Amino acid sequence: MGLQTAALGTIVSTAALPPVKLQNGERIIACVLSNDVLVAKVHSFKFGKVYCNGGLCCKSDPGFVQVRYLIPVAYCAVDNQLNPLAGAEVFVRPLSRSNNNGYRWLVDQKQLNGGNIAGMNILINCIDTEYQKYEFSVHTRFKHPFYAGNQIWENAVKEGMQFYAQHIESFAMELSDEELQQKLAAAAQNTMGGAQAPQLPNFGGVPMPQTGAPAAPMIGNAQVTTAPQLATAPGATVHSINAADLDVIMGRKQ
Ligand SMILES: [Zn+2]
Repeated sequence: MGLQTAALGTIVSTAALPPVKLQNGERIIACVLSNDVLVAKVHSFKFGKVYCNGGLCCKSDPGFVQVRYLIPVAYCAVDNQLNPLAGAEVFVRPLSRSNNNGYRWLVDQKQLNGGNIAGMNILINCIDTEYQKYEFSVHTRFKHPFYAGNQIWENAVKEGMQFYAQHIESFAMELSDEELQQKLAAAAQNTMGGAQAPQLPNFGGVPMPQTGAPAAPMIGNAQVTTAPQLATAPGATVHSINAADLDVIMGRKQ
């Protein structure tokens, strides 16, 4: 997509809050920021992830509904000694895992640590870019969250957690069946060589009505409302980071 100039802190993605995404061989230190997890049932279409509502999504993507567990982490790159890279930027993002690709490991660590994983530092090693497969280990060098004591990093984590709470829903798109139908049709058209609407003649500079404009939202009829799409895991409370977690996260408590 070429080089872009952007202000420091700009996040370039289709989602406001993209999940952790690493390249093969990339290693990071990540501090888990909550004992709670969000569970998302999604479909992956060419145009992005869509929350499952049991309707057209399942008919269009049979058998491919995915369950993703989302856990907030603060992370940065490591150096050759596996210390946080000096001067590196710290991000707060959802770590998105399936049950057999990391989530089970995290649950086990929580069990082994007396039911508490918030504040734990982990080392993540990416071994597959395409499928985002990771190896995990507990990073045992620091008693506190790796960013504790570095004012710039601590501020980044505080701000990042607020942004996380406000934007985590953007992990996937919430679409009505009608909206999904439109996106699927547009994607199919793109696949078939990008067929475009014919150019309309323009008489004397008078703008012509656009073809292919999205349908206006329906008013007072058949507007489908869907239930909240992010559910908490059994036994977990709501995802927001609570005061007790915050103490741990900010290194104020062991
Ligand atoms: Zn579905």
